[in-house]
Formats: sequence, structure tokens, C-alpha cells
Amino acid sequence: MSKDTPRCDLCARTARYHFAVAEPAGDPLGATRCARHAIFYQPVRRSAQRIAAVVGTVLFGINQADVVFTGRLTPLVVVKSVLTYAVPFSVSTYSALRINRLRDRDHTG
Ligand SMILES: [Zn+2]
Repeated sequence: MSKDTPRCDLCARTARYHFAVAEPAGDPLGATRCARHAIFYQPVRRSAQRIAAVVGTVLFGINQADVVFTGRLTPLVVVKSVLTYAVPFSVSTYSALRINRLRDRDHTG
């Protein structure tokens, strides 16, 4: 580990991610986060929630709405409905982290 290893802004662990744009009123240089804090980074989480709400609702309508609205709700349908929202949330979060990950060339001279 070199002395140029980037550190998380919150806990000083080795940073794995850098987000170029922080909050509108935040640091104009962005935020550097370790894996644990990147997953819960508010802009990433908020974006994933919005995408999950839109995409999850569309998928729910396509796949589960007829079952739910005809009164055939079972525990399996409930689990499937939760997963219908969890999948786009997870994909959005993964994608944001993947795009903003630091590579070795980002912090070595
Ligand atoms: Zn951290």
C-alpha cells in the first residue's frame, strides 16, 4: 500500500470509490468512499430508490398485479413482489458503484 492510497472521507479505510459530484451544496471535488460507505452514499441510494420505484412498479404491474388484484395473494407472491423492487435497486446500486470505482491508475503517480 503506497502513501498515495486514497482514503475514505468518513472512516480513513482504503477508498474504493470516488463520486465526482457530491450534494449540490457539498464538496465540489466530490466524495471518496470505502466500499461500506459507498453502498450507503446518499446520492447513490436515492437514485437507486427512484429507479426501483419506477422500474419495480412497471415490472410489478406486468408480473404480479393480476394475481394480487384478484385476491390470490400468497407468501410466494409477496416474496416475488419484494424481489421485483429489490432487483432494479440492486442493479442501479451496482452500476453506480462500478462506474465510480477507483482503479490503480487513478491514484498512482
Ligand atoms: Zn469509509
